Amino acid sequence: MEAFHYRQHRLLAEDVALADIAERFGTPTWVYSKAAIASAFDEFAGAAAGRRVLVCYALKANSNLAIIDLLARRGAGFDIVSGGELERVLAAGGDASRIVFSGVGKSRTEMQRALEIGVRCFNVESESELRRLDEVAGALGRRAPVSLRVNPDVDAGTHPYISTGLRENKFGIAHEEALRVYRLAASLPNLDVLGIDCHIGSQITTIEPFLAALDKVLELVDSLAAAGIALKHLDLGGGLGIRYDDETPPSRAALLQAVFERLDRHPRGREFEVLFEFGRSIVGNAGVLLTRVEYLKTNADRHFAIVDAAMNDLMRPSLYEAWHDVLPVDASAPREAAAWDVVGPVCESGDWLARGRRLAIGEGDLLAIMSAGAYGMAMSSNYNTRPRGAEVLVSGDKAVLVRERERVEDLFAHERRLPDPLAG
Ligand SMILES: *Cc1c(COP(=O)(O)O)cnc(C)c1O
Repeated sequence: MEAFHYRQHRLLAEDVALADIAERFGTPTWVYSKAAIASAFDEFAGAAAGRRVLVCYALKANSNLAIIDLLARRGAGFDIVSGGELERVLAAGGDASRIVFSGVGKSRTEMQRALEIGVRCFNVESESELRRLDEVAGALGRRAPVSLRVNPDVDAGTHPYISTGLRENKFGIAHEEALRVYRLAASLPNLDVLGIDCHIGSQITTIEPFLAALDKVLELVDSLAAAGIALKHLDLGGGLGIRYDDETPPSRAALLQAVFERLDRHPRGREFEVLFEFGRSIVGNAGVLLTRVEYLKTNADRHFAIVDAAMNDLMRPSLYEAWHDVLPVDASAPREAAAWDVVGPVCESGDWLARGRRLAIGEGDLLAIMSAGAYGMAMSSNYNTRPRGAEVLVSGDKAVLVRERERVEDLFAHERRLPDPLAG
């Protein structure tokens, strides 16, 4: 069963009517399906059964503690990109030894903390970072486990803002530099060189770019072995796409099977533990943004539905012109359909969630912005001093609050009025 579905013209999350959630928790509200998250993760885990694989969840897609907790209980590892995400994993009961620490700009403080709690691996992205990590580990009297993020120069065929594996991106170490940087890593006294990683982009909807990246990684693994640097793991990153509109990404299992087949053709492919870092494909279709129509208006010949969610809540449309389906929560109303631009109250023309959608809507209606579980709440802001919405997790016929709606006073709680010496 799909997590979000109609029953007698009413849109449900599992067995809970979204209208009831709006009634209980208000709008805008993020609604997640526990079953959808669990089954997405389990599909990866099932496809990896019998192999040495760690499927990590890339926290930046959605870092709510309840979601981390749910995935930790199912055996997920975690891919983090900041010290803040590290604390979230620990706060949610996740295991430090299953954390890989990615990101191009790790600070000394972040490195220290990660070394103290014992993360599984640092995915290092530059020579300078390598030297800094060696120094920080030395000062603590520890050894830092490292992998180098290589840039396989593969086109993921996705939006430029979410394509990360091309040579001109800021991410990773160029393929032709890798051998030299690995030699440096192996020579530094406080590092343990464990693996190699790559991450070529996000919302990738075919298998080929993943296999092309794997081939590049395996080539490097061979030249490293020839140079006497033996690696223990390959981390192939994340990036598997989901269906927002009419995309047809491979299934999670199909992607993993294709990767394993390719690995098994390599003479030493079976010797490596394999890590993945999936975000969007675990939570993307497991969440919706529930919003209410405040006003309908027509300017020139455009029809606008002004809703109570906005670009500060869901940034993807204004940032990448991303397409999200918009469904009426009550589909029984006999209204005439028109082409609506669904926009928010923020003072920017870029504040839109969907454009030109044929919808039968009236003021006060509830809408569900679909496929909003990934890079939704996680990318939200308080622009226009808009408190962020609540987050609700549904399981069967139960709906529980997993993040309270922010209050306006929370938003300026850390600010000060002019202190005396400046007040005159
Ligand atoms: C963002 C990111 C991921 C997750 O990407 P998805 O497209 O959400 O699967 C994995 N690894 C790294 C290093 C990332 O930056």
